[in-house]
Amino acid sequence: MGKIILTGDRPTGRLHIGHYVGSLKGRVELQNSGEFEKVFIMIADAQALTDNADNPEKVRQNVLEVALDYLACGLDPKKSTIFVQSQIPQLCELTCYYMNLVTVSRLQRNPTVKSEIQQRNFEASIPVGFFAYPISQASDITAFKATTVPVGEDQEPMLEQTREIVRRFNMIYNTDTLVEPEILLPKNKACLRLPGTDGKAKMSKSLGNCIYLSDEPDVIKQKIMNMYTDPNHIKVSDPGQIEGNTVFTYLDAFCKDEDFTKYLPDYANLDELKAHYQRGGLGDVKVKKFLNAILQEELEPIRNRRKEYQKDIASVYKMLKDGCDVARETAAKTLHEVKDAMKINYFDDVELLNQQINKYKD
Ligand code: ATP
Ligand code: MG
Repeated sequence: MGKIILTGDRPTGRLHIGHYVGSLKGRVELQNSGEFEKVFIMIADAQALTDNADNPEKVRQNVLEVALDYLACGLDPKKSTIFVQSQIPQLCELTCYYMNLVTVSRLQRNPTVKSEIQQRNFEASIPVGFFAYPISQASDITAFKATTVPVGEDQEPMLEQTREIVRRFNMIYNTDTLVEPEILLPKNKACLRLPGTDGKAKMSKSLGNCIYLSDEPDVIKQKIMNMYTDPNHIKVSDPGQIEGNTVFTYLDAFCKDEDFTKYLPDYANLDELKAHYQRGGLGDVKVKKFLNAILQEELEPIRNRRKEYQKDIASVYKMLKDGCDVARETAAKTLHEVKDAMKINYFDDVELLNQQINKYKD
């Protein structure tokens, strides 16, 4: 069997450079590599509603924003099926059956869900849907028989949970219907969990610490100039710290040696720049200007492509609708197999009918 990709994003805002380095850029490369039989990209609106139930308009608006960001980054509907989660009802049905295979205490141990609950100040009033979203994510992944899930590091516990569900399902129902997926993390460490411009937590749509792929050049520059660096690096001559210095983390994520030839020829590579900063004598503004030049170059073509797609919104919705049709068909096939394995296929099962007839004969 060929390899299959499933991944996606919550439509809670436009996509940012954390998504780009953590998942999106790699996805486009995988899509174009020819190594995958199928690529499914899901806009996870149902998941977004688990913590935005009172704000459906936000989710509704951002389905299009995420689709535009996808196309702008080079996801190609001819090669990838791009679809919207809520339009595939089979996913809810699968979730319902998988819920019986997971304990409440297992869900409570999920470190990502734990920290997201804290972030959202849910305290005791956690929506059940939010608490259980790792199970719904297992449905998304398994419905498409995904072998490979390219995501950021925060998704690792979800993949582990999915694998547990797959193993339990296949064991209980004595089947090989479900496929155990593998996580595919970015190779560059700085991209695993890109911090926000405030340097505090991961860059996240819900935290307002993002540089968006669609930000205009002056906005990008302003965000970079206000970025968190080393609070003890006050004078240019002071030695500076690299660890926890967000500007350097972004350079780790984005900078290539060629960027020095182009924008900062006094240094050969990032190690030399870091060494100078640590010694003292290198100001934050110079480093930030360098980062700005690199990010502007990377984001300009994405922004321009987005503007092209924005001219024909009806086609973007059509593309999504067609994607949903393909995804629904695939998910329905898996659901059928799942119900067969669970033997809740009463009306397709001739053997069952004959058995019951015999049971009540005379
Ligand atoms: P929300 O705040 O609504 O949860 P988010 O910014 O965390 O939004 P998601 O839609 O939850 O974004 O995540 C989509 C994908 O992007 C996931 O694969 C996730 O791992 C990856 N991702 C999100 N933020 C980052 C980041 N800062 N660094 C690396 N990868 C990220
Ligand atoms: Mg998230």
